[in-house]
Amino acid sequence: MNEERQSAPPQETMMQHEVCLRRVQQHFVQAVCSCGWLSAARLSESLAAEEGRDHAILYNGAFSEEIL
Ligand SMILES: [Zn+2]
Repeated sequence: MNEERQSAPPQETMMQHEVCLRRVQQHFVQAVCSCGWLSAARLSESLAAEEGRDHAILYNGAFSEEIL
């Protein structure tokens, strides 16, 4: 018997992960992803960027260092 089973990819991989940075309360920067993920607000822009990049790498998404 030939049972063919097509497994749909999990929702997680279908989701777009586009991470960018946004300024919070003038002094803080936070990484924001289109999936709804947020990093902690950081005083250091490079730290927020690092966290955002980590998230993008983890989910095979895109990262932009542009601050909105
Ligand atoms: Zn995400």
